[in-house]
Order: sequence, then structure tokens, then C-alpha cells
Amino acid sequence: MLRCPVCREPIQKTNDKTYVCPNRHSFDISKKGYVNFLLCQNMRSKLPGDNKDMVEAREQFLSKGYYFSFLRELKNIIDQYQPTDILDAGCGEGYYTSGVYSTDRNIIGIDISKSALQKAAPKNRDITYIAASLFDLPMKDNSVELLFSLFAPYAGEEFYRVLKKDGIMILGIPGADHLFELKSVIYETPYKNQVKEYELEHFTFLEARKIHKKIKLQNKNDILNLFQMTPYYYRTRKEDLEKIHSLEQFEVTISFELLVYQKQS
Ligand SMILES: [Zn+2]
Repeated sequence: MLRCPVCREPIQKTNDKTYVCPNRHSFDISKKGYVNFLLCQNMRSKLPGDNKDMVEAREQFLSKGYYFSFLRELKNIIDQYQPTDILDAGCGEGYYTSGVYSTDRNIIGIDISKSALQKAAPKNRDITYIAASLFDLPMKDNSVELLFSLFAPYAGEEFYRVLKKDGIMILGIPGADHLFELKSVIYETPYKNQVKEYELEHFTFLEARKIHKKIKLQNKNDILNLFQMTPYYYRTRKEDLEKIHSLEQFEVTISFELLVYQKQS
């Protein structure tokens, strides 16, 4: 499924430690078990993507199972199509990637954040984890049967290119009232998330599955971790952040949509 990030020829694992292409570009697999396909000259920042703190917060929060219903619904959709070659585009620390893994599936998880991959890779050595940009995927054309991309930037052209004929794409997005109560604590006039039009160019929209429920956050740590996973965290003023710190237990709405598409030929 993979191609060399330099010359775009097919690239293969030669042993447990290295990927090599026919032009002898080689990439070592790190001790943690992921391979770095990011090329220095294309990088605007030394450590792109989610930083260590964000990754740690997400890892802690997800390990509590608060988003399990979302994972289960994703798994249901994937099972329905019985794909063998799967790509998780924007895999983060691998909660969903390892969550949908089974031994009859080849799964590749790609993320630009090395901090995230350092968490993801040791969890399951049978999943191939790669540091790369979603906008320049190290995958061959028409090589993926199903790709899913959750809360990640939409790289439509690349997703289209790497999917096989009639391939399936699943996008995970927050629903309108996702975390509304949490926003109400901070903002005087909280707004609902805008859910975009479902239609996308070059894909046929098949269905939307909605996950909507209330979860009870058990302690301060869980509340702070969840808040740190949101885009609001870095935009919130210090005095408003303190409002979050004063919470001990909290009931909040989680709302997601899983949008299912098929590649048009
Ligand atoms: Zn090469």
C-alpha cells in the first residue's frame, strides 16, 4: 500500500527496522514502533501536530471509555463493509485505530504528530504507524478499501487518490451540541457547532450515523482533560479557565456524526 515519500516508488519493509524503496531511500522504524516519513525540507515546524500535553490529555480521557459508544458505532460501520486494507487518516494516539483492529485487517495509522504516534505504536505492533501529512499521503493510488478520518483536516484530493474503486470513506465530526454544557460554563453566550453540508465533490454520500448521549464526568481531571482536547482550550482566557477548575463532577452532552461516503468513479 505504501510509496516512498521522496520518489513515490513503492516502498517496503525489508526487515523489522527499515523501509527501503528501489531508489534506496531508507527510513528506520523508531524504537516505539512507528516510521517517520516527514521530510525536513517540507516541515514548517519541528514538531508539527498535537503536542505532548494534548496527546496526554486525550490518552487519559479516552482510556476511561467515555467515547466508547462512538468507537462502537465506527466499528459497526467498518464491519459492514468487511475491508482488508484500512487507513486511519489522522490517527492520533491510536484509540480508534487499535479499537477497530482485527487480525484479518491491514491497518495503517497516519498522523503528523510524533508525540501521538509514540503513544499509538506500542499499543499494537501489528498496525503500521507512520508520521506523515494527510495532504501528502505516503500511499499508492487506489490502494485503500476503507479510510476513516475523525476530527482531522479534510484532505479530499488525497483521500480520493488513495481509495480503491468504490472505496469507502468515513468522516467523524462533532455534532451541533457537542459539549454544549461545558461551553456554557465558560462563555456567556455559547454557540452550537455548525455542521456543514454533507455533500462532497467526487464522493457519493451514503449515510450519517448520529451518536448523541450524556456522559457524567467523574472528576476534575477528566473534565480538564476533555476540555484540553477541544479547540477552545487554547482560546480561553485564564479567568474563564478557572471556571472549569472549579468543577468537580459534570454532566455533558457528547454528540458526533459519522458520515459515510463512497468514491465515485
Ligand atoms: Zn524513494
